[in-house]
Amino acid sequence: MKEKDSGKEKMGEKKIYITPIKEGTAIDHLAPGAALKILEVLDLKEFPVTAAMNVGSKKMGKKDLIFIEGKKLSGKETEKIALIGKGGTLNIISNASIVKKVQLNYPEEVSGIIRCINPKCISNAEGIPAKFSIKSEPLKATCFYCETRMNENEIINSIK
Ligand SMILES: [Zn+2]
Repeated sequence: MKEKDSGKEKMGEKKIYITPIKEGTAIDHLAPGAALKILEVLDLKEFPVTAAMNVGSKKMGKKDLIFIEGKKLSGKETEKIALIGKGGTLNIISNASIVKKVQLNYPEEVSGIIRCINPKCISNAEGIPAKFSIKSEPLKATCFYCETRMNENEIINSIK
């Protein structure tokens, strides 16, 4: 997709136009269902958000996309969405043009963004930031402290 067309998507015969944003973040090429999960884990109360779900995509069949006006994602926020939106494209928009494009991929390690599902884990008992190593295909996280393994659903439900 060319930068010029990033706000337009075809859905069947109809075209959907999404208000382009001047400053902020656009996350494109998300698998269907990923947009809702991402909106759940980001704190976006103060930002105008436009999301499109199950939109027709030449490349993917169907996809989700999100525009967040005025929002710059922190490193931790980017890690969170990378766990959910692998394969998606993160676009940083400034002055109405894309200044940075990043392909979302699983981080090798995360710290302080997901909770360990083992209630007895020291990270839960003592409020230490839980640390995990991440393996892909399929997504798995292994706790650094108690070695509990978590699958994709458990990981996404444990993002805080
Ligand atoms: Zn643990």
